[in-house]
Formats: sequence, structure tokens, C-alpha cells
Amino acid sequence: MAPRKLAAGNWKMNGDLAALAELDLLREAHPEPGCEVLICPPALLIHPMKARLGAHATAVGGQDCHANASGAHTGDISASQLKDAGATYVILGHSERRADHGETDADVAAKAAAAHGAELTAIICVGETEAQRDAGETLAVIGAQLAGSLPEGASAANTVIAYEPVWAIGTGRTPTEAQIAEVHAFMRERIQDRVGDADEARLLYGGSVKPANAAEIFALPHVDGALVGGASLKAADFGAIISAL
Ligand code: PGA
Repeated sequence: MAPRKLAAGNWKMNGDLAALAELDLLREAHPEPGCEVLICPPALLIHPMKARLGAHATAVGGQDCHANASGAHTGDISASQLKDAGATYVILGHSERRADHGETDADVAAKAAAAHGAELTAIICVGETEAQRDAGETLAVIGAQLAGSLPEGASAANTVIAYEPVWAIGTGRTPTEAQIAEVHAFMRERIQDRVGDADEARLLYGGSVKPANAAEIFALPHVDGALVGGASLKAADFGAIISAL
């Protein structure tokens, strides 16, 4: 069975309580039956977002969590706290976390294990830099990140992989269709022995997805949706991406 498609919005450090009004517009977007929509706002907005959505099917997620369940970790948030606030997903290992906070593959795997322990679905991000692509290292980099970032116990049900080339994030540049398809086919094969049934796992593409390119990207083999940054902040744009699923 083909995986359920997923459109995931990553608000990053954007938005406030007033921005939740945008959600009302999202109700106009009609994903195909069986497709899922997720928004990952700053952690402070998870609970009010969930409340505003009410019975609406859109899921809410975090953008990071700590590897420990609780304790003396000033400023951090645990997976169970995200869950308690209404999250069902958490993005882990985003390239901005890896770059700004020095997160390693082992850190990401530990956080993903914590997420699974709290019954959150982990969206684990991987992706090469432009220098790595230019050096012909893309598949080696992705392979190493997958090997190191997926924890024991990862399954197609509790783990989503997002391929996000670092050079495509927030730049307006996207890989060619052939480049996306190559990496996604590689990821599908690579995770087979890690997640059980790889055909069931959801593989997202992320990096400058917008209404104008979403349908083409979603049509590529092994692409099961998108992780959307900038274009998820405007309900009209995110709605158009959802409708293209
Ligand atoms: P972008 O960001 O859509 O703004 O390129 C994607 C991401 O970082 O998840």
C-alpha cells in the first residue's frame, strides 16, 4: 500500500497568537482523501493552535525536543511535554538545528528515540550542503545521516524522513526532478533494513516548495509529500500545496 501523503508546515521561529487566524483559511484547502496535513509552529503555539483547530483534522507538531524525559535542562522541551500540549509529530535534525546547535546524527537518534517513547511520530531531516553536492557526495552524506539518525525501533509508522538539501532551504532554488527522484529512491532502499516495511514509510521533500512547484514534486516516484517552510506561513500558499497532494 502506498504511504499516506503528508503536507507538513514548518513555521520555524515565526508566528504569534494573532497568526493563528490564518488557520481558519486553511479550512478551505481540500486534501485528497487519505492525505494528512501537519503544522509545526513554535512550541508556545502548539496548545493554542490545537485549540483553534478544534475538530479539524490538521495535526500539530513540534520543531525539536530534548532526548531526556525531564530534568535540569533550562530552555529545553521534552517529547512528552510536546505530546501533552497536543502535538503528535516532532521535526528532528533539521539542518538549522544541526548548524545552529551542533546537533549530530547521534543527538538526532537520541531525540527520535525519546519522541517514539512519547508516542510522537519523528520527522527526521537529512540533506547535503551545496559543497557536498558539488563534490559528488550527496548519496554518501544522506546514507550516513540515515544510518546515524534513525534510532532502534524506528518503523514506517513512527518515523517520517524528510530530504531537505541545505542549499534549497529558503533560497528559492530546488533540485531538478531527477535529483529529487534519485535521492528518494536511494532513501527508500537504504531504510529497508531499518524500518521494516520501507514501502510504507513516508519520504518528504523539503526546500523551497511552493504552489508553483508542489504538484510536479508530489508526482515524483517515492515522494510522499513535503516539508514546507516559508510557504506554510501563508494559508493561501499552504492551502494550494495541500490541494496539490
Ligand atoms: P523552505 O524551508 O520551504 O522555506 O525552503 C523548508 C524547511 O526548512 O523545512
